[in-house]
Amino acid sequence: MDDLHSFSWYAAKLKKHLPPEAFKPVPARLYGGLTYLFITITAFLLIYFNDFHPIILLFFSAILGACFAGLGFLGHEILHGTVIRKAWLRDLLGAIAFWPLNTGPTLWRKWHNLNHHVHTQHDENDPDAWPTLERISKLSWFKWIYGLPLFIRSFFAFASLTVQFSAHSMKMFFTYVKEFNRKKQRDLWLQMILPWVSWLSLIFAIGFRKWVFAYLIPLLIANFIVMAYISTNHRLNPLTPVNDPLANSLTVTVPKIVDILHFNFSYHTEHHLFPGMNPKYYPSVKQHIKAMWPERYHEMPMMKALHALWQTPRVYQKQTNLIDPKNKKTYGSLGNNLNYISRNSDSIKKSVLHKPTRKG
Ligand SMILES: [Zn+2]
Ligand SMILES: [Zn+2]
Repeated sequence: MDDLHSFSWYAAKLKKHLPPEAFKPVPARLYGGLTYLFITITAFLLIYFNDFHPIILLFFSAILGACFAGLGFLGHEILHGTVIRKAWLRDLLGAIAFWPLNTGPTLWRKWHNLNHHVHTQHDENDPDAWPTLERISKLSWFKWIYGLPLFIRSFFAFASLTVQFSAHSMKMFFTYVKEFNRKKQRDLWLQMILPWVSWLSLIFAIGFRKWVFAYLIPLLIANFIVMAYISTNHRLNPLTPVNDPLANSLTVTVPKIVDILHFNFSYHTEHHLFPGMNPKYYPSVKQHIKAMWPERYHEMPMMKALHALWQTPRVYQKQTNLIDPKNKKTYGSLGNNLNYISRNSDSIKKSVLHKPTRKG
């Protein structure tokens, strides 16, 4: 932790190995969004004009949830300016892509681009970082929640991934709206309310039962998909006083088809080094990082990262380790002896990578 470098330090060293076209906007990435939009509208029409059995409707919900999440990943990219540079068009396309998740482009750029990216894993300034024991122990519900056994907390934490993006987005809205001038505040309110009005109006157009399958369940599925990434992007890493993406970010690995569907969102360390880069080039950035700083880089299969998340508490004791306030067990973070029980796929035998240490 003494040897941290800012993202610009790494970026300067990596940039000379990358072609200039990696930094040019690529409007062709919108074809992916158009495909998701086409599938979404087709599914809505099929649901509207037919009386399907609930099992068939659930299948549509899964497709729609995947489309909403895919559009969200594209919205993230659009609002970083990697697709189109013209500000008004970037914001309009970003608003459309984030419409199903009800997050406006102005709020997103403030929350994600200007705060999460600039202050990643800073214990006070990153709006997405998990709290330290010192901060959380002042909250009234702390004792009640942390009195429960870890596996029950993990169960509810995983179940809450189905609403966490929407809930956090609403929290961010009320955190940041006051920081804008009056005109911008009006834009922010409109960008938040209009999507909700449109989705709630859909109840009157197609009826409540069909709406549950066409919007509500897909929204929960989309929340889960985007949160499966967001929760593993940084939550196993230490908090860092310097914004060092190799120390504070995790790249997860997923099957190739999933990377295509999610616009390479899995390459999160690479994304923090070059948020304005065409994500097509992230695999090449990864190769260079692994050649230059192999001991600093963190990558993990998505399922393994989720498993580690399940087995570790989400409270930082110090910057580099987590603590279970119930029994005071401490757990390391990535790069600092992350410890959890790993299932060996060959023999179902459980093996402890590093035994939890008892402190404090
Ligand atoms: Zn991030
Ligand atoms: Zn980003």
